[in-house]
Amino acid sequence: MAVSQGICLLGATGSIGTSTLDIIAQHPDRFHLVSAVAHSNVDKMAAICERFAPRSVVMTDADAAEQLAQRIAHLPVTVASSADDLDAIVSAPEVDQVMAAIMGFAGLRPTLAAIRAGKRILLANKESLVTAGKLFMAEVAKHEVLLLPIDSEHNAIYQSLPQSQQGAMLKDVDKLLLTASGGPFRTWSMAQMQDVTPEQACAHPNWSMGQKISVDSASLMNKGLELIEACWLFGVTPEQVDVVVHPQSIIHSMVSYNDGSVIAQMGNPDMRVPIAYGMTWPERVTTQVAPLNLFQIARLDFEAPDLTRFPNLRLASEAWYAGGTAMATLNAANEVAVAAFLQRQIGFLDIAKVNEKVLELSPVGQVNDLSVVFAADEQARTCAAEVIASRSYT
Ligand code: NAD
Ligand code: MG
Repeated sequence: MAVSQGICLLGATGSIGTSTLDIIAQHPDRFHLVSAVAHSNVDKMAAICERFAPRSVVMTDADAAEQLAQRIAHLPVTVASSADDLDAIVSAPEVDQVMAAIMGFAGLRPTLAAIRAGKRILLANKESLVTAGKLFMAEVAKHEVLLLPIDSEHNAIYQSLPQSQQGAMLKDVDKLLLTASGGPFRTWSMAQMQDVTPEQACAHPNWSMGQKISVDSASLMNKGLELIEACWLFGVTPEQVDVVVHPQSIIHSMVSYNDGSVIAQMGNPDMRVPIAYGMTWPERVTTQVAPLNLFQIARLDFEAPDLTRFPNLRLASEAWYAGGTAMATLNAANEVAVAAFLQRQIGFLDIAKVNEKVLELSPVGQVNDLSVVFAADEQARTCAAEVIASRSYT
């Protein structure tokens, strides 16, 4: 039996964080929580500290950190708040694996710190790879870290590759088939989508997730981000990736080889499967996820995505080919637009319009340095806020 692995959990209070804690709790002989990071949910983090007794915790909201420190003063847990504290806890020697599950661009800095510290990286936070892909992958190679994709589609592709090719550039592969559920509005007309509420957008048919990724799934921006994520992870271009809408979310993605074989990974939609796979690779462990009952499922359907009703997928491909900072620009615009939609400042269909306008207005720079990515992110956020305030996206 392997030595217990120390886990640093970034985004501990979120949906992926909760599923990761569930796997740790199911396998206390294999894993222990060394540290946990979240933004502001004091109640949830206090409960995590009581149950999992990490050594250190970072709450990036300073008030929340203070409240938490008072609440758990009886426990031997160090509570901190600064970005430097965050870098220190991901790099600590007791940490073997870092689960990168912070939401959005905020996950980039700590994930890079974890790569530089040589930890096994469990990557859920797709936005960090999308925005800084070139530098991100260069750091992964330089520090020879094991990068395990946790996003279910990329995890499925990884599982569908021969072990000798996992983490390497692809050989003998014709196409990656990236499946998409199509989200709650898959069959809706533009007119019907005009007035959808945040509640409707967040009610995903198959997966229970955080708010931002739920809205992204409804607008197909999630699939756009995943298209870019797949390009960086597997060294392909959007032409080599077919998005396949598959409403049942049973096939999590596929690899089509040049001999005509297609290998798929299937299972009930539950993130504990890819999470546990990443944590135990190249082994597997039980997850308490119900076994797949194909007789109950009875049928699997497939259709092509509609880029007219869901322009975000087209924008993601365009941003990839524009290269450089375009992907950071698109991601930042989308984060601002989704937040505005959740606050009912703009409509659902306006998200893609804001994204397109910000891409149009933003210069594309070369990504040779991380500071360029942070500057592009900031510029695009300002631009998106202006575009929304002036309603110039219509
Ligand atoms: P969530 O909203 O449920 O949780 C987000 C977590 O990040 C919370 O713990 C929150 O406190 C933390 N956080 C947010 N902003 C932060 C900041 N500035 N600093 C530090 N911590 C911060 O989100 P989620 O659904 O768990 O998704 C997390 C990431 O995983 C996202 O990048 C998402 O795209 C990716 N992902 C999620 C799923 C899923 O099923 N939920 C699947 C694939 C990929
Ligand atoms: Mg996914």
